[in-house]
Amino acid sequence: MELVIRPALGLRLFLAPRRRHAQFEVPYDGAASLGHVVQSLGIPLTEVGVATIDGVPTGPSVSPHPGAVIELATPPRPQKLPHGAGFLLDVGLGTLARRLRLLGVDTAYGNDADDADLVERARNDRRILLTQDRGLLMRRALWAGAYVRGQGADAQLADVLDRFAPPLAPWTRCSACNGALVGVPKDDVANRLEPGTRLRYEQFARCVSCGRVYWHGAHGRRLDAVVAAALKTVGERAPTG
Ligand SMILES: [Zn+2]
Repeated sequence: MELVIRPALGLRLFLAPRRRHAQFEVPYDGAASLGHVVQSLGIPLTEVGVATIDGVPTGPSVSPHPGAVIELATPPRPQKLPHGAGFLLDVGLGTLARRLRLLGVDTAYGNDADDADLVERARNDRRILLTQDRGLLMRRALWAGAYVRGQGADAQLADVLDRFAPPLAPWTRCSACNGALVGVPKDDVANRLEPGTRLRYEQFARCVSCGRVYWHGAHGRRLDAVVAAALKTVGERAPTG
C-alpha cells in the first residue's frame, strides 16, 4: 500500500534528497493520519497550509485511503498572526531577534531555555516560536510556530517579514531586551554620553526595562538600511514625530 505525495516547492527542503520532487510515493499502513504521514516525511505541520486528499481539503487527523494522492501547500503569505501575538526566537537566532526589535516587533529570545521550556513559554506568553529546528516545531505542546528559512540575519529577516508582515514601528523597542523606548530630555542622559554624541545628537530615548540609552544614529547606517528595506517589504511607514 502506498500514498502519492505532491509537495509544494517550498516544502521540498524538509524532505530527504531522494524525495525532493514534484511527486513521489511512500509506503502506507492504511491507518496513520495525514498529520502523522506529513511529519514522518520531515515536514512540520506549521509549514503546511492547505492539504488535500484526492483534491479535497482535509485536516491532519484524517487517515487517507491507500493509493490516495496527497497535495501539500505552504501557508499563504502573509500568514495571519493570532491577534496581539509576538514572537519567541530559538537559541541560534539572536541576531534576528535584535533586528526584529529594531523594527519594533515584540520579540522574546530564549538563549538559555531548553526545548520544553521554549515550547511552554511560547504557549504561556502567546508567542509564535521561530526556529530552524524542525524537531521543536513537531512537539505536541506547540501553540504556534514557524520554520525560519535562510542562513544569516538578512535572509532570515526577509523570510519572517514576507511570511507574517508584522506591523512595524522602528526605533520604539530596545534591541537588547525588547523593552519599550521612551523619549528622554538630553539633560537626563548627558552624563552617560560620549562627548561626540553629546555634541551631535539632540533626541534620545531610554529603555524602560534595562535603562539603555539610544539616539538616532546609535545603530549606524547599516541598520538604517535594514529598517528602510523592512518598511519597503512590509509596506508601512514609520510613525512620524
Ligand atoms: Zn532594554
